[in-house]
Amino acid sequence: VAILRHTNEGLRPLAGNRIPKNWAKLINPLPLGPNHGSCGTAGFLKQRVIVENILEDPLWADYREYQPIHGFMACWSQPIINNRNELLGTLAIYFKNSRKPKHQELEIMQALANSVRTLVERKNYEQQLNCAIEKAELRAHELNTSLKRLKKVEEIAHLGSWEWNMQSEMAWTDELYRIFGLEPQEFTPTYDAFIECIHPDDREKVKLAVTMSLSQKRPFSIEYRITCKDGTEKVVHEHGNVEFDSLGKPTHAHGIMHDITERKEYEKNLHNLTSKLESLSYQDGLTDIPNRRMFDITLNQEWKRSCREQQPLSLIMIDIDYFKQYNDHYGHQSGDDCLKTVALSIAKLVNRSSDLCARYGGEEFVLLLPNINLEQATQVAEKCRESIFRLNIPHAAQCPCSVITVSAGVFTITPDKETPSSLLVKNADKALYLAKNNGRNLVMPFC
Ligand code: GH3
Ligand code: MG
Ligand code: MG
Repeated sequence: VAILRHTNEGLRPLAGNRIPKNWAKLINPLPLGPNHGSCGTAGFLKQRVIVENILEDPLWADYREYQPIHGFMACWSQPIINNRNELLGTLAIYFKNSRKPKHQELEIMQALANSVRTLVERKNYEQQLNCAIEKAELRAHELNTSLKRLKKVEEIAHLGSWEWNMQSEMAWTDELYRIFGLEPQEFTPTYDAFIECIHPDDREKVKLAVTMSLSQKRPFSIEYRITCKDGTEKVVHEHGNVEFDSLGKPTHAHGIMHDITERKEYEKNLHNLTSKLESLSYQDGLTDIPNRRMFDITLNQEWKRSCREQQPLSLIMIDIDYFKQYNDHYGHQSGDDCLKTVALSIAKLVNRSSDLCARYGGEEFVLLLPNINLEQATQVAEKCRESIFRLNIPHAAQCPCSVITVSAGVFTITPDKETPSSLLVKNADKALYLAKNNGRNLVMPFC
C-alpha cells in the first residue's frame, strides 16, 4: 500500500514502507494525466482506477518498461478528495499478481481513503499515516490469508461464489470457473454469459428465480443443470441474495454455487438399487414369477375392489402331482428345473394385466383372476392342466401317465365386507384336495 501526496509538480510518495525504493524514486513526481499509470490517471480523473494487469492495460503503456523494477502486476488506485472536490493525493494498492478487486475489497479501499483524507486534513499526518498504512497492510494480509483459506474450502467443498454489481461484469471465484470447466482468461462472466452456460431446459426457471428474488426482495435457492464447455452436464445448487439501497434499488448481488453432480448420481444409483431390491422382494427367487408376498398384497387389493364393485373374484390353486417322488427319483436339481418349466407354462396362460400368477410355496402355484365366474375360471384351470400335461416332462414314478401332471382346485366368490379374503384360499384348497382324492391330473371346482 502506498499513499501519494498531490503537489504542484504532480503526485509524490508520502508513505508506504514496502514500496521498492527505485520505484518510489521513479514516481517522484508522478504527473497527473489520462495515461499516467493507475495513480496519475486516478488523480487526473478524480475517480478510482483499477488496473488488473499492468502489462496489458493501456494506462500503463508509458510505465510498462519499469515493471521489472517494481515487480507488480496489478495496481488499484483510489483518489483522496476533500469536501471542496480538491485532490489531496491517492491511495495505491499494488499486487504481485494480476488481480481483480472484490466488492468487499473496494469497500475497504474506500474506507482507507476516507481515513487518510481525515488525517491529511488535520495536517499532522506523517506518523499517523504510516501507522494507518501498517494497519491497512495488516488488514490486507489478514484478508489475503482468509481469502486463501476460503479458496481451499471452496475447492474441497466444490463450492464456488460470485458477486455482481447488477451492471456489466460479475466476479467469479476460481472454484466457480472450475465448476463450469472454464478458464478465467477465456471467459468474462456477465449475467447473459452465465445464463448461456445453463442447460437450455433450466434457463427459464433460473431467470424466474432471479426475477422473483428481485421483486420480492428475498434470497433465492435453486437447483439446476449447467452445460460445461466440453459438453459435460452438471447439477448445481445455488443460493443467491440481492442487496438494495434505501430507495429499494438493487445495488449488489452475491451467491454461492455447490456442484452436487456426484451427490445426485449417488442418489440416482441408490434409488435404482432400492427399486430393484423392492421388485426383487416381490419375486420368487427360483422361478422369477411373483412370490407369496406379492400374492397376499394383490389378493387384499383385489378382494376390496371386487367387494366395492360387486364383481366375482376367482382363484385357481395348482399343485404338482407326486412331486416328492419326482425329487426322490431325479434329484433336487432336476426338481428345481421342473418347477421353473411348470411356472413358466402357467404364467404364459395369464393374459390380462389384472390377473396374477404366483408361486404360493413349494410345488404349489396360484392364479388370481378378477371379474371371472366359476365356469370361466374352471376353463382356465383346465387349460393349465392340459398345457402341463403336454409339456411331456418324464416322471417315471408317476402312474399311469409317466409324465408330470398337476391337479387344480377352483373357487369363485363375489366378496362382501363380512367375509375374510382367506376364504378364497381355503375353498380353492378344499377343491384341490378333492382333485387329489379323485385321482390327480384333475381340475375340481368348489361346490
Ligand atoms: P401330491 O401329489 O399329493 O401333491 O404329492 P407330492 O409329493 O407332490 O406332495 P408332497 O407335499 O408330499 O411333496 C411336495 C414336495 O415338493 C416335497 C418337496 O421336496 C418338493 N419341493 C418343494 N419345494 C421345492 C423346491 O423348491 N425344489 C424342489 N426340487 N422340490 C421342492
Ligand atoms: Mg403340495
Ligand atoms: Mg404335490
